[in-house]
Amino acid sequence: MTECVLTHRRSVDEYTPTVGEECIQELRELAEPLCGARVLHLNATAAGGGVAEILKALVPLTCDLGLNAEWRILRGADEFYKVSKALHNGLQGMPIQLKSHMKEIWLKYSNLNADLLNSRGTYDFVVVHDPQPAGVLRLLHQKNGHRNPGIWIWRCHLDLSTPRPDIWGFLKPYVEVYDAAIFTRGEYLQKDFQGPRCFDVPPGIDPLSIKNRLLDDREVHSILLRYGVDPGRPFIFMVSRFDPWKDFRGVIDIFGSVKKEFPEVQLVLAGGGADDDPEAWSCYQRTAAYAQGKSDIHILWGQNGVSSPELNAFQQAASVVVQKSIREGFGLVVAEALWKSRPVVASDVAGIALQISHGETGYLARSVDEWVEAITSLLRNRETAAKFGNAGKNVVQEKFLITRCLRDYLKIFRTLSG
Ligand code: UDP
Repeated sequence: MTECVLTHRRSVDEYTPTVGEECIQELRELAEPLCGARVLHLNATAAGGGVAEILKALVPLTCDLGLNAEWRILRGADEFYKVSKALHNGLQGMPIQLKSHMKEIWLKYSNLNADLLNSRGTYDFVVVHDPQPAGVLRLLHQKNGHRNPGIWIWRCHLDLSTPRPDIWGFLKPYVEVYDAAIFTRGEYLQKDFQGPRCFDVPPGIDPLSIKNRLLDDREVHSILLRYGVDPGRPFIFMVSRFDPWKDFRGVIDIFGSVKKEFPEVQLVLAGGGADDDPEAWSCYQRTAAYAQGKSDIHILWGQNGVSSPELNAFQQAASVVVQKSIREGFGLVVAEALWKSRPVVASDVAGIALQISHGETGYLARSVDEWVEAITSLLRNRETAAKFGNAGKNVVQEKFLITRCLRDYLKIFRTLSG
């Protein structure tokens, strides 16, 4: 059987002080006709990465509103995760060759998971996240000889705007059989994608999670000291899965240039892996080797990611938070930093540009020179840094909290069920 992920109970009422009574009332009204509906979220991992982070809050909040929601992860093994990461890379535009044995492996596990799902009975809504489990629906149709009951939604978190054509060509027939598809931005949609009804829903962060609650200064201070970071000196911070797409090495190079102007500055890089990401450990090792011999660089590793109180403390105390992704569907880490009123410098890629307005809520940088200039100017000018931080927090409050995301799902469920 696919594995069920248990989540901590959450109550929407706890969110009233943060989002207001009206927002909670709207959620209750939207949920009322859906009461008792069986909802399944299916993805590849329970820990590490943005999807797991979102489901940790979205699933229990959906339950609290009276729907019967569950979260399951598909069954896989190393050979499957290697192929699904290659698919992921190819869909984000990396030159990848999808050889026939790789397709066979992907289909073998998609078949296995389709069988496991078949034994679970039916759901009113099934939300299948990302490409890893996306094959199950077409295989269920083939096995059962009819369209599967319930409303099936493919939720793609990737920036799908420039995929390798052969990789997209392979996946397309599996995702076109869905009733609906959700993308973070409408622009991610390929023009030849036909069939599902499409919606845009950006993700949201959970303001009440341990990662995003305000920590007191003493706690922040003691966490910094525990990891050897000097709280008396400024530091630049980035957290992500150790993944080549996040360009940790690029950050180290930029840090070298920033340090020439600000010799006292430190760099903290934090991250880890995810159960479905076989590249993380080697990416971490390459990053650590690259940093060796360079002063004031701290690298933190956690198997399924560095834990929440630590991340919270580093995000809260950083002088500048950076995110140097080469491609990013959204980048929850950016919203997390903005929520803590941090000035952020990040790559000018679609998912991040959705969150940051250049020169108003942070800086978007393209060239190394722009990166260095943006970071040094924020280190120099703390007033601008504070102004960006406050403006960024307002944007997250308005657009990128989990309650807005929950509202969008409920609206989509209602639209699709007529
Ligand atoms: N994360 C974490 N520990 C780590 C690295 C990342 O808890 O060591 C969390 C991070 O705070 C964020 C999520 O994992 O909530 C990453 O989501 P994002 O959308 O930024 O990137 P993804 O990993 O999905 O590409």
